[in-house]
Amino acid sequence: MDDRQFRFAMGQFATGVNVITTEADGNIHGMTANAFMSVSLNPKLVVISVGEQASMLEKIRKSKKYAVSILSQDQKELSMLFAGQIKEDRDVSFDRLAGLPVIEGAHTQVSCEVVNEHVEGDHTLFIGKVIDLKLQDCSDPLLFYKGQYCCMKASEEVM
Ligand code: FAD
Repeated sequence: MDDRQFRFAMGQFATGVNVITTEADGNIHGMTANAFMSVSLNPKLVVISVGEQASMLEKIRKSKKYAVSILSQDQKELSMLFAGQIKEDRDVSFDRLAGLPVIEGAHTQVSCEVVNEHVEGDHTLFIGKVIDLKLQDCSDPLLFYKGQYCCMKASEEVM
């Protein structure tokens, strides 16, 4: 199996799109990520997966905290910016949740403290204990499927 085949297969799993944020030495850093899931209800834990090349890695190790902003479908441009797909310096203003920077107007914001870290292959999993969350629920979430951004056509339950 080659890398392309693996990526293609994993891309069949539709996800939301998040911006992970943290603050180290007074500087806010953001990174687009879709490797995110909830891990435990009691205690409330989530996990993110950060690549070994990402500058986010050392920043989270330093701050020991991160926030996850689940993007709304009108925030595709922010996803592209924080994935380095738009190569421009832009001024982004952030909200705060439990002291951590979060994306303004995001669908859902979650702030976490790192309680564990696992290096697995070329990624590091950061287990985060949820310290606060906020739902705006103003529009549908942005989706990512087969390597492309998309949106929900209708929020109807499949029978
Ligand atoms: P950089 O490449 O240094 O920064 C990313 C961009 O964010 C730069 O353009 C920078 O200018 C901008 N930026 C950062 N902070 C600010 C700020 N405060 N104000 C304004 N702009 C700022 N990678 C993973 O490791 N895990 C994943 O789960 C993952 N999922 C992805 C899902 C999608 C849909 C996409 C498109 C990409 C995903 N990536 C993931 C890839 C990842 O987003 C990129 O590799 C990213 O460039 C790595 O970020 P970095 O920390 O190295 O930061």
